[in-house]
Amino acid sequence: MENLKKLELFTKAFEDLPIGVGIFHVPDLEDIRSIEYVFMNKIILHEMQKSKEEVFGKRIIEVAPEAYQHEGGLLVIKTYQRIAKEGGNVNLGLVEYSNHLTEGTYECSIHHLIDNYVYIMLRNVTDLEQAKNELELKNKELKQFAYVASHDLKQPLVTISNFVNVLQKKYENTFDDNATQMFSFITDATERMNQLINDLLDYGSLGQKEKMTFIDCNEILKEVQQDLSVAIKQSNSTIIIDQLPTIKGYKTSIRLLFQNLISNAIKFKKPDTHPIVKISASEDIYWTFSIEDNGIGIAEENTQKIFNVFKRLHNRSEYKGTGIGLAHCKKIIDLHKGKIWVTSTVGKGSTFVFTIPKNK
Ligand code: ADP
Repeated sequence: MENLKKLELFTKAFEDLPIGVGIFHVPDLEDIRSIEYVFMNKIILHEMQKSKEEVFGKRIIEVAPEAYQHEGGLLVIKTYQRIAKEGGNVNLGLVEYSNHLTEGTYECSIHHLIDNYVYIMLRNVTDLEQAKNELELKNKELKQFAYVASHDLKQPLVTISNFVNVLQKKYENTFDDNATQMFSFITDATERMNQLINDLLDYGSLGQKEKMTFIDCNEILKEVQQDLSVAIKQSNSTIIIDQLPTIKGYKTSIRLLFQNLISNAIKFKKPDTHPIVKISASEDIYWTFSIEDNGIGIAEENTQKIFNVFKRLHNRSEYKGTGIGLAHCKKIIDLHKGKIWVTSTVGKGSTFVFTIPKNK
């Protein structure tokens, strides 16, 4: 088939595509000023704010001379020349472009078509990029706000608990049962609030300053067991740990992840039973870890909700906690681009499973 027929076929195929596609001819492979527009589909014409008649068959230097003075424009034009000469294709990624009519960021790739013809695929991502930047900024502000708010909340809390202590010491002898109970409520509440603020501060700063390293999970589990030794002893728990792999991740966060899951496995035990917690891992295209317990279990309808901040299924008198632990775990797993979920049977126990991609 001669070139003209082939080009006609291509233009038909390209016309209605939902991204910008244009065909260029490079008649003189040594002269970038010779490059001509052959065809631009509707989307590109709209971007250029030009009609077919103003563009098709014309040289770029005639229609958009400013492109030769513009860094982004020149990069694209030189790539037409290179691909027309050498064949193949190249993904230029994001290219900034502006002239007197348009201004924006484009995702752009250039491909060889036939002989001295190349085509470009363009997607205007200006709004998307702007939204991304705004989102990043908002996220930063939000983190800062959370930090400042929780940090500043600690100050009055310290004052309250100090003065409650002073009051208690001074007037303890004169307290009746009622007053003693009220004071213990205040102390408990301030302690809880302090814990809540600490958890929030941790949650906000998770993974911020950490670097990814190789982590021997066996080592991490030894440390976690040590940190939880009091709770393990008090509950008479048995912790069974299989041989675990070395993974790539954020060490402090991974330690916290195991600590939260194991301390929950111990905490949410059935009355009059000793917790048995099994930790194992298997290898596939990613690492899969599971933490299995013989505790109270979680009803099916709650297995998703528990990963939300402040979601608790019990009141504080039954089981202590702030409801941030699992939200933390979810955030840590998100940070590692993995997944976390739980399977559970009420009255029998729960198995928390998470995956971590294998990074070599
Ligand atoms: P916290 O432990 O501070 O209450 P978490 O975010 O760690 O908060 O857990 C949220 C809720 O999920 C808990 O209040 C509990 O109801 C439930 N849960 C978590 N882990 C387990 C588990 N191993 N067995 C049973 N219920 C659990």
